[in-house]
Amino acid sequence: MKDCNKSEEEDPFQPSAPISTGTLPRWARRHHHQHLPHHHHHTHTVEFDDNDASPSAPPLNLMDQVFGYESVSFDAVNVPPPEDPPPRSPGESGSPGPSGAGPSGDGEDAAAREAREAREAARGRWGTTLSEQEARTALLAHVKRHCCYGASAARNMAITALDHASALQYSLETFTERRETAWSFSPYLGEEVDGADNGPAPLPWQLEVHPSQPFTSEVKCQPVPHTSSVKQCHRCKGSGSTLCVDCHGKGWVHCISCHGNGYDTDASGYKERCFYCHSSIHGRGRQDCVKCSAKGKMTCPTCEGGGLLLCFIQLTVTWRVNVSEHIVDRMSVPEDLVRNVTGAIAFVEEGPRVLPIAHFPDETINMASAQLLRDHERDFSSQRILAQRHQVQVIPVTGATYKWKSSKGEFYVYGNEHKVYAPDYPQTCCCGCSIL
Ligand SMILES: [Zn+2]
Ligand SMILES: [Zn+2]
Ligand SMILES: [Zn+2]
Repeated sequence: MKDCNKSEEEDPFQPSAPISTGTLPRWARRHHHQHLPHHHHHTHTVEFDDNDASPSAPPLNLMDQVFGYESVSFDAVNVPPPEDPPPRSPGESGSPGPSGAGPSGDGEDAAAREAREAREAARGRWGTTLSEQEARTALLAHVKRHCCYGASAARNMAITALDHASALQYSLETFTERRETAWSFSPYLGEEVDGADNGPAPLPWQLEVHPSQPFTSEVKCQPVPHTSSVKQCHRCKGSGSTLCVDCHGKGWVHCISCHGNGYDTDASGYKERCFYCHSSIHGRGRQDCVKCSAKGKMTCPTCEGGGLLLCFIQLTVTWRVNVSEHIVDRMSVPEDLVRNVTGAIAFVEEGPRVLPIAHFPDETINMASAQLLRDHERDFSSQRILAQRHQVQVIPVTGATYKWKSSKGEFYVYGNEHKVYAPDYPQTCCCGCSIL
């Protein structure tokens, strides 16, 4: 039987952010054909081997036809949402932006607020500066974290210039919902069956399923109402048991201690009944099969012995937070380092859809915002976008130029955390060979 987590792991498209689905992948189709005709006739129990190409699911053609779900298979397939409903008040506000202007109204107010916030950011927090002493303290702390660095350079170097230029980090979060359907089954244990008699099955996007929290990744599974039916178990052909693979149904295996003759001969030539098989219910030289407790068959794990399966269409809803970011860095601190520190939030906005930032003082941020919004619109077109959030963070960066003995160099202090990037620090060797 398929469970939520399993289908998630199996999906080859899952880990990458740009998701394009909607068609059944080729491997999944091939997978099915293998399962369709399987004409083995066993009278009682069916031998099951884990390595065997034994069907992992009932034949697809035995499943009921459900209106709206004709192409559903045993592998989860994405169902694109129906077209978004038209905005409540068409023709009013909501400037028709390039990215299909979502239902976030009051365009003018938002733009005005955005411009004001950007101005404030430019005036105030952008100017965060470090003193020479603060820069040196940060460098000393950095040196201390590297046990092999020498500290005298940091203590004694002459800092000849300080430069301040903030890095900007734009990030866009798109909260998406993806709905997949697949046939699923579980052992039928006599529970009530919600089948087609109870009415037509609701379509995937008609079902009310909501995330527990916005902007949190989550998966929920539920059966689609009125799609259940009871079928014979495909693995045991309804018998409820499978042949034991260890003893091939005999209930015993040849004793490996006495090689099947039932007696052991000791050093003095005395023959005695083999210790390992003398109590077997199947006779001399035979050991009871441990796996099946000498019965030769096992309870079918698929139907748990009942011989019947409850088949139904399973809806899997996956919510995901998709994050993209763009970093503008005027000094040479690597982006990966800038990404891991904090600064001041200059702008933040959240809504069902957000519009590109247009009035930020740095034009590259405006361009990145428009581009990433377009990218998300395209990447998640087969899913539903529930909410978006974007922000600009201003990360203080100070570049310090120094002289120490005969060397000259630069180091950078960045983020509220005062992290240091010092790629050419002069005292980095363990054995002191470069400290001359
Ligand atoms: Zn056995
Ligand atoms: Zn034996
Ligand atoms: Zn079974």
